[in-house]
Amino acid sequence: MKVASVLIPLPVPEAFDYEVPETMALARGESVAVPLGPRLIRGVVAEVRETTGSNRRLKAVTTRLDDPPLPAGTMDFLDWAARWTLSPPGEMTAMAVKGLRAPPPRPERLVRRVGDRTPARSTPARTAVLEALGERAQPPADLARAAGVSSAVVKGLIDEGVLEIIETLVPAAFDPPDPAHAPATLNPDQAAAADVLAAATAAGGFAAFLLDGITGSGKTEAYLEAVARTLARDPSAQILILLPEIALTQDLIARITARFGAAPAEWHSGIAPPRRRQVWEAVVAGRCSIVVGARSALFLPFANLKLVIVDEEHDASFKQEDGLVYHGRDLAVARARIEGAVVVLASATPSLETLWNARAGRYGWLKLSRRHGAAVLPDIQLLDLRQCPPDPQTWLSQPLREAIAETLLAGEQTLLFLNRRGYAPVVLCRACGHRMTSPDTDSWLVEHRYTGRLVCHLTGFTMARPRLCPACGAEDTLVSVGPGVERVEEEVRALFPEARTAVFSSDTVPDARAARALIRTMTEGGIDILVATQAAAKGHNFPRLTLVGVVDADLGLRGGDLRAAERTFQLLTQATGRAGRAERPGRAILQTWTPDHPVLMALAAGDRDAFVEAEMGEREAAALPPHGRLAALILSGVDALAVEKTANDLAAAIPNAERLEVYGPADAPLGLIRGRRRKRLLVRADRDVDLQGFLRSWLGRVKVPASVRLTVDVDPYSFL
Ligand code: ADP
Repeated sequence: MKVASVLIPLPVPEAFDYEVPETMALARGESVAVPLGPRLIRGVVAEVRETTGSNRRLKAVTTRLDDPPLPAGTMDFLDWAARWTLSPPGEMTAMAVKGLRAPPPRPERLVRRVGDRTPARSTPARTAVLEALGERAQPPADLARAAGVSSAVVKGLIDEGVLEIIETLVPAAFDPPDPAHAPATLNPDQAAAADVLAAATAAGGFAAFLLDGITGSGKTEAYLEAVARTLARDPSAQILILLPEIALTQDLIARITARFGAAPAEWHSGIAPPRRRQVWEAVVAGRCSIVVGARSALFLPFANLKLVIVDEEHDASFKQEDGLVYHGRDLAVARARIEGAVVVLASATPSLETLWNARAGRYGWLKLSRRHGAAVLPDIQLLDLRQCPPDPQTWLSQPLREAIAETLLAGEQTLLFLNRRGYAPVVLCRACGHRMTSPDTDSWLVEHRYTGRLVCHLTGFTMARPRLCPACGAEDTLVSVGPGVERVEEEVRALFPEARTAVFSSDTVPDARAARALIRTMTEGGIDILVATQAAAKGHNFPRLTLVGVVDADLGLRGGDLRAAERTFQLLTQATGRAGRAERPGRAILQTWTPDHPVLMALAAGDRDAFVEAEMGEREAAALPPHGRLAALILSGVDALAVEKTANDLAAAIPNAERLEVYGPADAPLGLIRGRRRKRLLVRADRDVDLQGFLRSWLGRVKVPASVRLTVDVDPYSFL
């Protein structure tokens, strides 16, 4: 008898076995419907094996579904990814068949000639229809329009049997990219990088590269050339380009369309399910060459993946923390290895993990050292706020104000950068000191003036700003403390009423379309001063931008998590790198209370190596990533006692292991979210320890009750 292991989208650690009916041919990767309790559920076949006379009574597979099977490379990748992240393999697999969620397209109705039958009665209108139709089947309405007759004429011919209706499935067309459409003339650095990458895809097999170049050095242009040469050699090759933010996709899609004369396929959560289904089907059938997407595009069933590009590879948005916990960049490297493809990690500020791999020679290291054309790096100045503090209740110091005025006068643009949404990060009572917090969450409420509400950025809870302090009842004593982008904008408008000012944050720019519109206005010079959160600190090209002001350069340094300094360095480099891209030199002014902090000094000196050296040294001393490995276990639940007990059970069951330590359990810094209590444990291991194996054997010893959720986060980015 044949048995199929079927991966089901449930939080269970293994595939379930089903009997394969004699008459059913089944293979790995195929979609099936199987019974689970009283219902039928969709699953994917992990393996089919022959068994001899098992006495277990297995339920049988109900149906084999018609969907295209997942290719072997995709199945291998899903299996690896589930093991690496300790995620339920069925849930991981469900990511790969998400594209099938929309109902299949309805067949199109076309009309065509039946043999050479002619109408019994010929009229000019009928003749026009037959002439317009020719040999090609077409929709009846189009035919009537082409012939200049009413649809009744076409219908009459169908009724008479001269024409017939056929139903066909017309797959969505993805125009093939033309590698020779509009090639760029590369500078020598770019050409050298493209040569290496093209040679690697031509050689076949896995290879990984860091494409390392300052902002505006032409990394995109260089990797697009590698894409072109890969496609020129092998028109059936597929290329995946991952971006950290949906807001960046439009710009890249426009560039690819201009370069190759055909738009790439787009894949992210903003794409409607029917379109996603079309992309999915085209990818699995090999009918689509270039996919531009967010991290979820990693799970597409590529038929012939040859090149994967992770742009802005350092970006923490590649880490997925809700639901399945994984790092898109790390999984991209794994996918390339499993598919025998080339992977390119591109960044102006590579992550320490990637630099570590490049230094060790595991990744080829391609450097673009010059900016393209006349653009030069901005002049970076640290502005010591102790010397020139802003006036009370304002946030822009005198020198920064003067620089903005000069820039305005020159007809150029300013970007003021503050990584804080809303108007004020804290609202407190002047009378009793009470801080407004979210009701069931350890998080302060942020004032938003546009909406007139207090908002919890963690859970989305909102309330009207109260007149009375909820703690002491005093009237009109609540004050806003500290700046958010909305408050800086208010100050800018008061200082420069004639300037065109706008705010770019996830509140003012709610979706990709709004982001595109604002970016276009800025690019075309329709904005003089843009006040922005990190959303605008990446990848955009604003040719008239010559001044970047960082309102609070100290912000990220206070976070106290592993990557706080690294993230600050990256953000500030990206933000200051926006200035002076094209023909105009730029400058950046960083307001800081700690001008002698090593991160800021390295930044002002433009000295990435100094920063990396210092930071790598700290990590090495503490044996933290990339010099060691981390994994977090997060327990949460409404029942605080059950959470506590599970945490203690886990602590009591830690397997013996060398070169590995477990910290905790401790209350998570955010100990309460949406009424759920949270506890954390942290595992640190040397690099050569089998961390996943340790976690598996540990978790196998403890029964987690249904009321407690356990999340495993391998290589955590958030420590909250
Ligand atoms: P990066 O990806 O490193 O930030 P881009 O590839 O976006 O850099 O290049 C920055 C700017 O320089 C873009 O406007 C791009 O069109 C232009 N550019 C880069 N390389 C070339 C080239 N070889 N020829 C013409 N323009 C180029």
